[in-house]
Amino acid sequence: MTDRYALFGHPLGHSKSPLIHGTFARECHQDMTYELIEAPHDQFAQAVSAFRASGGRGANVTMPFKLEAFALADERSERARVACAVNALKLVEGRLHAENFDGVGLVRDIEANLACPLAGKRVLLMGAGGAARGALLPILATRPALLVIANRTIPKAHAIAESFRTDNALVAGGYDDLGAATFDVVINATSASMRGEMPPVPATAFAAGCVAYDLVYGRELTPFLRLARERGARRLADGVGMLVEQAAEAFLWWRGVRPATATVIAAITVPLT
Ligand code: NDP
Repeated sequence: MTDRYALFGHPLGHSKSPLIHGTFARECHQDMTYELIEAPHDQFAQAVSAFRASGGRGANVTMPFKLEAFALADERSERARVACAVNALKLVEGRLHAENFDGVGLVRDIEANLACPLAGKRVLLMGAGGAARGALLPILATRPALLVIANRTIPKAHAIAESFRTDNALVAGGYDDLGAATFDVVINATSASMRGEMPPVPATAFAAGCVAYDLVYGRELTPFLRLARERGARRLADGVGMLVEQAAEAFLWWRGVRPATATVIAAITVPLT
């Protein structure tokens, strides 16, 4: 019987996930389907329950259900626990296992696809929402020289750093605290670009030749990426590679086979001009 997978979210009109997982399934010869389930805001648990009852094997989860998926799960990975958010679910012997592959996908895109190893680098991570929380553990695992978390609401930055207070590389605060510090990798994990805004990052934060990464994708050159280019960034990236790499991690988790990602990334990348 063909195995069923799905993406839960609301709204889902723009989602590239069926294309990504459809391509992975074809190339890895997996007998599976991948559908979109746009659950009403107050009916995520019921939608997951119906999916389970009809033989669903696993799912991705996106806005606004990432926190609810965390609460619903029977088992949670360390990455999911640190993020307090979940973007992938898998049914194992009737129990719902939860993972968060967003941060791993981000790190893989930066290190493998953009050829920028993070070890020894000075990294600025802006934002303290689910995406930033998911990125924390995978970035720290690469052993950067420094990881600064900056957020508009400063106590949120302190709160997420609190669980890693033994890691000397990690510093948290507000944008004003950045002073004239410069960074080799500047990551915009805020949602500001969704509205054509940008976080109040000082222009001096971009070291000459840095990598600038905006998690938002499909917006072409965001104000954040434009500033990075003006400041001499050597590489600009949006979140398309992260999206595909987190999907590949979920696919490996579900199916036990790792799909190649380069062709899919190339197919859905919009040039940043
Ligand atoms: P959340 O809503 O959980 O968090 C949003 C964050 O953005 C908060 O830290 C908020 O600050 C900050 N923020 C919003 N507007 C501004 C602004 N104008 N200036 C400064 N800070 C601002 O969102 P997520 O963490 O879940 O997602 C963040 C972005 O990452 C989204 O746009 C999402 O599309 C993208 N994303 C991309 C993925 C990919 O695969 N490429 C995967 C996951 C997410 P405050 O706390 O002060 O409100």
